[in-house]
Amino acid sequence: MNYKTHLATTFAVSLPYMTSNDALTVGSLSLLAVGAVFPDIDEPNSYIGRRLTGVSHSFKSIFGHRGLTHSIVGLLLMGAGAYALAEAFGFSENLAFCFCLGYFAHLVEDSFSKKGISWLQPLSKKRFQSGFNLIYYSTGSIVEQLIFILSILAILYHFSPLEFGTLLPVSLEGWLSRLFD
Ligand SMILES: [Zn+2]
Repeated sequence: MNYKTHLATTFAVSLPYMTSNDALTVGSLSLLAVGAVFPDIDEPNSYIGRRLTGVSHSFKSIFGHRGLTHSIVGLLLMGAGAYALAEAFGFSENLAFCFCLGYFAHLVEDSFSKKGISWLQPLSKKRFQSGFNLIYYSTGSIVEQLIFILSILAILYHFSPLEFGTLLPVSLEGWLSRLFD
C-alpha cells in the first residue's frame, strides 16, 4: 500500500473516533498522519524512507522490510518513544496517542495485503493475513485504488454537512416512489 492510501484509509477510519472524542486538532491530525506512514521507515523507497534515508537504510539492513517495525513490539517501542518525547517536550499525551493510532492503523492495513505481516516479530516470523486469504489487496492494484477512492469518499462524507442523498441529481426516494406508483 502506498503512503497516500495509508493516509486516506487511516483518516477515514480514525476521524469518527477523533471527532467523538474532541481530538480533532491540526496537531492530532498531523501526528496521526506521521504514525500512518512511519512503519515504512524500514523501506528506503517509501515516502518516509526517502525523507530519512540514513535511518531507513539502517532499519532495512537490520530488520528487513515489514520486519520489526511492522509488529506489536515495534508499535510498543515506537509508541513508548512517542510518549517519552511528548513528556520531554511538554506536549499533550493525546498527540502521542494519535501517533500510535496512526501506526496501529498502518499495521492493520498492511495485514490486509496479500502477504500480511508478522505481528509477533521478533518471536515469530509467521505472517498473518487478516482477510483469511479471501479479502486482500496487492500494492498498486486496482483494489488498492478502490480502497483509496472509498476512503476519500468516507473522509468527504465525514466533513460534509450535506447528506449524500442531496448530492444526487435525482432524489432516490422520489425516483423509487415514481417507480412503484
Ligand atoms: Zn507498511
